[in-house]
Amino acid sequence: MTPVAPTVMKFGGTSVEDAAALARLAAIVAARRAERPVVVVSAMARVTDALVRAVARAGEGDAGGAMAEAAPHLARHGEAARALLPPAEAAEVEAHVRDAEREMGGLLEMIARQPGTRLPLHDAVVSFGERLSSVLVAAVLRANGMAGVAVDARRCIRTDAEFRRAAPLPDETRRCTRAEVLPLLEEGGVPVLGGFIASAPSGATTTLGRGGSDYSAALIGAALDAREIQVWTDVTGFLTADPRVVPGARRIDRLSYAEAAELAFFGAKVLHPRTIAPAVERGIPVRVCNAREPDAGGTRIDAHAEPSPAGAKAIAHKGGITVVQVTAVGMLGVYGFLKALFDVFDRHRTPVDVVATSEVSVSLSVEETDALPALLPELRALGTVDVEEGNAIVCVVGEGLRTTPGIAARVFGTIRDVNVRMISQGASRLNLTFVVKDDQAHEVVSRLHAELFEDR
Ligand code: ASP
Ligand code: MG
Repeated sequence: MTPVAPTVMKFGGTSVEDAAALARLAAIVAARRAERPVVVVSAMARVTDALVRAVARAGEGDAGGAMAEAAPHLARHGEAARALLPPAEAAEVEAHVRDAEREMGGLLEMIARQPGTRLPLHDAVVSFGERLSSVLVAAVLRANGMAGVAVDARRCIRTDAEFRRAAPLPDETRRCTRAEVLPLLEEGGVPVLGGFIASAPSGATTTLGRGGSDYSAALIGAALDAREIQVWTDVTGFLTADPRVVPGARRIDRLSYAEAAELAFFGAKVLHPRTIAPAVERGIPVRVCNAREPDAGGTRIDAHAEPSPAGAKAIAHKGGITVVQVTAVGMLGVYGFLKALFDVFDRHRTPVDVVATSEVSVSLSVEETDALPALLPELRALGTVDVEEGNAIVCVVGEGLRTTPGIAARVFGTIRDVNVRMISQGASRLNLTFVVKDDQAHEVVSRLHAELFEDR
């Protein structure tokens, strides 16, 4: 009989931030022991920020100040250990903390003396957040009757040498991860790896970029052909709308990868789609769960979420949007106009979100407006340009929109008294997106939520 495929369980910074959070983590993993968990952890909340500040201080030549930034945060691991572990195990974690302090002190002094080492040593300093949290979590699991084993993730995730945002080498990572982790699983162990950290071919410590632990979890899940990758966080998965705008917003049980990507783009800060790409490639489902409500189920994201009967799954919105309209009578029937237009945005590295065109004008919505002063004169060479700030994008998302006749009529009928600026239905027909004035966005989202999701 082949054993069940492992489940990767990733816990973010708030899910390991103190003794109470760690106790919740242990209970969650213990209840899912039969799923062959492989645990991936972030640094305790606020630790990475402190270590980044420490590197900056050292870069200014102040090694003492740098250590003063870091030390109180390193000490938090010892405090949690003393609260949760038998004395001998706590002492072992505290010994790790002292080693980390010593090693980090050496690195910070090196940076202070030779500023040229700041970039190559940055990731080594910052990596201590995840190195210590993984040691601590493994010990907490052992104290709760599981065979927790800390695994140095730098031996698993292999990358190029681009410090602070290294790119994984997939084949190497798969080979090394399997070699490190599978034997532990065979013996019934619960491997615990730090997210975010990795190593370059030279052996130097690298990191995957801020917030990179989700990416680590996806890479590890893909390497192990995991059954599921669970992201344990402090929200209850994806919701039908922003709960600050719609208090009655409900959790969404299932999403497709594409739906999750649309929602993440519109600001659902649950999970960045890019970070789960390795899981998407291998078709591994990702589940977002709330560590404070472990039995609530969360949102499961996979390749084939069923369309919900309503046709729509969620309403996302994003304010602070500027609409740029370019009108050029001369564009009628002319080749190359759109290309010239997009080239301008491209050159100024300004992403365009929504596009609507007519025969003689094009409207585009942009969120990043820093480059507009430089960009607008170039646009004016193409036609008359109008700029309107203070807009919001509202986006109704769902695979079911493809097959639900009349959804647009229902959406716009519900807000028939609102001035809708631009309308676009994504080529995938997965979303219906439009622009309204910023000060009407909340009203629009509430009314649409009532129409599409309530009383049924
Ligand atoms: N600890 C890292 C950070 O704060 C990685 C992560 O938490 O995902 O950016
Ligand atoms: Mg995170």
